[in-house]
Amino acid sequence: MSLPEDEAERTAALDAGRRLFASSCRFVMGGADLAAIPAAVLPEIAFAGRSNVGKSSLINALTGQNALARTSNTPGRTQQLNFFDLGGRLMLVDLPGHGFAQAPKGLVERWTRLVNAYLKGRPVLKRTCLLIDARHGIKDNDREVMALLDKAAQSYQLVLTKTDKIGPTLLAERRAAVAAEIARRPASHPVIISTSSATGDGIAELRAALAALAIPASRENPT
Ligand code: GDP
Repeated sequence: MSLPEDEAERTAALDAGRRLFASSCRFVMGGADLAAIPAAVLPEIAFAGRSNVGKSSLINALTGQNALARTSNTPGRTQQLNFFDLGGRLMLVDLPGHGFAQAPKGLVERWTRLVNAYLKGRPVLKRTCLLIDARHGIKDNDREVMALLDKAAQSYQLVLTKTDKIGPTLLAERRAAVAAEIARRPASHPVIISTSSATGDGIAELRAALAALAIPASRENPT
């Protein structure tokens, strides 16, 4: 979603995002194969991106919990699907980074097998946020991931990262180029969200977009 234009609806959406991401976020488990991942009980949002795109920093910025990212970037966990339960309403799934420079072929094949199996066998997956470094734009290995997502008919949304590192003119050009490219792709979400974990730009908007996919807060126990 993009934020509603109506002022009251916009405020409500941002508020829902703020409240969801203010709830506690807990590392559930990491799994290197589908037999070792949690039962699909909550709606899930996956985060994908080239290594170093700023994925851990973004998950930290969203949840306001710095220890989470360290969990995913711990040696031994970088090739796993890492699951984080957000307030019992949404599961955040940190996919292993793709596009290592000179990655051995076996590693790339293992990544593709694992991620493909997850994407195809997870009906609770509501959306994948595909992170793109705003300085570099979409790279070929991002296109490979988009092709996997299109083929699996899994909705994905592009999130530009590190926007503080480029000026507004270049950012506007980058957004236009990315929008033109994804327009042709069947499973892509049309709204691109620009973020900076360093300045907090776009974080509230992304929280609001994801809160719309979570289990609603109960009236008796609002989060
Ligand atoms: P990951 O490998 O995708 O999890 O990437 P990290 O979150 O570990 O970030 C990689 C590097 O980029 C680190 O040095 C971060 O400090 C830096 N970084 C991440 N997000 C931002 C951002 O929004 N702005 C700036 N300036 N640097 C960032």
